[in-house]
Amino acid sequence: MKNFAINMRANAYDKYARWQRPSGRFSTLRKLNNWLVPALCPLCGEVQESSSALVCNCCAANIAPNPAGCALCNDQIENGSICGRCITKPPAFDSLSAPWLYKTPMDELIGKAKFYENYALAYQLGLAAADYFLACYSEPYSEPMPQALVPVPLYIGRLAERGYNQASLIADGISKISNVPVFKNIVYKNLATPAQSTLGVKTRATNLRNSYVAHKLSGIHHLAIVDDVATSGSTFNELSRELKNVGYQRVDCWCLARSKKQ
Ligand SMILES: [Zn+2]
Ligand SMILES: [Zn+2]
Repeated sequence: MKNFAINMRANAYDKYARWQRPSGRFSTLRKLNNWLVPALCPLCGEVQESSSALVCNCCAANIAPNPAGCALCNDQIENGSICGRCITKPPAFDSLSAPWLYKTPMDELIGKAKFYENYALAYQLGLAAADYFLACYSEPYSEPMPQALVPVPLYIGRLAERGYNQASLIADGISKISNVPVFKNIVYKNLATPAQSTLGVKTRATNLRNSYVAHKLSGIHHLAIVDDVATSGSTFNELSRELKNVGYQRVDCWCLARSKKQ
């Protein structure tokens, strides 16, 4: 019942978010709506020049793109294509992609989507990030696209507390543009663990051990896990390990923002 309620809310915001992306149809109505209820930038609160934009031009200029990093974990590297940590201990996933750096103001934007019940913002961040992920698989890379998106699941207690899973809404936004379907029932979290953000890097790696349970769907072998932020990469790593254990051959990781070593 709880899941049903959450899905209904996600669907409602799906409609809202689409309303925010103008297309040819009803464009006059949209212009009228924007004139009556101007869209405000979620960061600075100023009236936006375009209602279809995620943030105003001023704030957009301050969002840092994520520079290329290690071919596996995407962390910063001094030289070569794979970082020392991945050479010593390769991650369970096959790639990690993120369009933005986890720095101000992107951290603030993700925080609003994650902790303040801003469902529409989580969905819109997914819409805004989708083109970046598509580009990662197009020319000149020409990699096969994942067959399904898997949002990082929350433990049922955390889901009830927060009322929604932001990774699910982000995945819905990405799916809307990329047409890659979202599978929300491939994996679930069967253990309550302390939030990764409250732990040090070493404890993060062991905190999630054996906390995810996945099942294999026939005909599906390539997945992309979706989350909001990658810091140590431990969540992606643990989830990928479980997905590979049950038989998925390739697991890519997609998130909005990557925090990198300074
Ligand atoms: Zn702004
Ligand atoms: Zn690496």
